[in-house]
Order: sequence, then C-alpha cells, then structure tokens
Amino acid sequence: MMFEPVRALAMPERFFSSETGRPFERCIRCARSLYRDGAPYLIEKALRRVPEYDATEVIFEYAMCVGCSEALWKRFSEESLRNIDAYFASRVDFEGRVRRLAGMPPDVEHWLAHCVVKETPAAELTEYQIAGLCVGDRLMLSHLPCLIGMEAMDEMGGCLSAATKDELDGFADEFLGIPPELRSLFKDTNVFFL
Ligand SMILES: [Zn+2]
Repeated sequence: MMFEPVRALAMPERFFSSETGRPFERCIRCARSLYRDGAPYLIEKALRRVPEYDATEVIFEYAMCVGCSEALWKRFSEESLRNIDAYFASRVDFEGRVRRLAGMPPDVEHWLAHCVVKETPAAELTEYQIAGLCVGDRLMLSHLPCLIGMEAMDEMGGCLSAATKDELDGFADEFLGIPPELRSLFKDTNVFFL
C-alpha cells in the first residue's frame, strides 16, 4: 500500500450547505459542532440537474460526524455490508483512482468529473450524489471526494437487505426531510455513508 501525503482544500462551495450558503457547522444526527477536536466528518449531497432551468436542485444534503456515521453502519446487516464491499471491490479500482488523482492539480472538479463506478461523465448525469470527507474547514483529497450516478446508486440499493433499507428509510424520515414531491425519485433512499 502506497501512502500519498494527505492533500486538502479549503471547503469548496459545492460542499457548502445550500440552506445557509456557508460550510456545514453541525452533525445532522447528534447536532454537535463539526469543528471539535479535529475529528473527520462526511458530507453527502443528492442532486438533480434541471436542464430546463439550467439549474441543479438539492434533493438532500447533510454533514455527519464520523462517530454517528460508524454508529449507523453498525446497524446495517452483515449481508448488506458484504454486498456493498463486493460491489465496489469488483467495479472500482480505488488505488488506481487515488494514484491518478494524486497527479492532478488540487481542484475538486477532477474528483467529481465522472461517476466513480460507471465512469459516466458528470455532465451526462441527471441525478447523482457527491460525498466528501472533511476535517475542520478542509475537504480531504484522497479516495474521496467522489461522485456517483443514479444508475450505480440503484445497483447499490439492490445490494442492501430489507432490514438495512428500513434503517436508511428511518434515517431519511427522521433527518433528511426529503420533500414529498421528490420522494418518488428516492424510493429506496439511496443514502450511502462512506
Ligand atoms: Zn454526530
């Protein structure tokens, strides 16, 4: 295993809260500050392009501390975790990706240029998610951030057991507040925590 020096960026606007227009400040689950004790946290956003208006709509977004993320993962079934691992292991060369990106200038757009699974150019995707790992006011540049298109999200949804889907739906209902009119798009609530 090769260790690259960790690179990081000042938080790009694409990872800002769309509600405040500023960086996320609190964990969506435990509401604690994301800036305590330098612990990492995740940001995930589900987005939909609306070509008629040349706009991008936020379907859901959140930041979550690593403690809460781990607590949620622990509630996933063994079967789901195994299936998700196998899904990525057979489709994504993360080491190759990290090596390739290490040679790129530190611009977040290089990390978000294609679906990490299908390699579809981001510009051709209507619905997709982006995820990033952050520390303080910095976005880490390593295997994340990444972008994943709806087709791959749907396939990942198929890796999840009914029990795990229920966990995710419960999380979405409690915390994400996805507007009802957009709910049908995310019927399996394809939230993925990395
Ligand atoms: Zn938390």
